[in-house]
Amino acid sequence: MSDPVRSKKLKISAEDASRTSNGISYTIKKHRRAKYMRLSVYPDGRVVLTLPYWVAKYKGKDYVEEKREWILEQIKNYEKKQEGKITLTRTDYLRHKEAARKLITERVAYFNQFYNFSYKRISVKDTRTMWGSCSAKGNLNFNYKLLFLTPEQRDYVIVHELCHLKELNHSRRFWDLVRQQVPNMEQIKKELRTKKIL
Ligand SMILES: [Zn+2]
Repeated sequence: MSDPVRSKKLKISAEDASRTSNGISYTIKKHRRAKYMRLSVYPDGRVVLTLPYWVAKYKGKDYVEEKREWILEQIKNYEKKQEGKITLTRTDYLRHKEAARKLITERVAYFNQFYNFSYKRISVKDTRTMWGSCSAKGNLNFNYKLLFLTPEQRDYVIVHELCHLKELNHSRRFWDLVRQQVPNMEQIKKELRTKKIL
């Protein structure tokens, strides 16, 4: 969730720095083409402040202070969603699907450096029944709600579907493949079993 999103597709420049202000940890990014200060809070709790080049970092700190209540509210909302206290809606899907697609595509590419399987299309959907699936044609489907899992759980789902490209079953060979990149998969499987898809 961002407060006003005014410029899209900004290139991230070198200067990232982590700061803490009164208990709120955030990362500062300076963007060449940013025209305004922009604050984003992500489902995993990350707070990112984007600054135009000409704005000094201490001004960013003031801005974070000013927006303190708003930030805490966003974080609290995400926590409630993670705990299953809020049902995700169509609006949540529309708001988050692009972020989910970006993240999932990146993680698929990351793990596929290791596996080197070939796949056709990655789809991000809003479903209540599955975290991910893999078709016989080599298409990978993922639930956008992966955004609300922990990074470890998310990676497990991604690796699981990726490995189905090679083994479209749950055989021992399949699990051996998954384990190569997710050694603690048993633990994560257990966690996911108790987690319902909202
Ligand atoms: Zn499976």
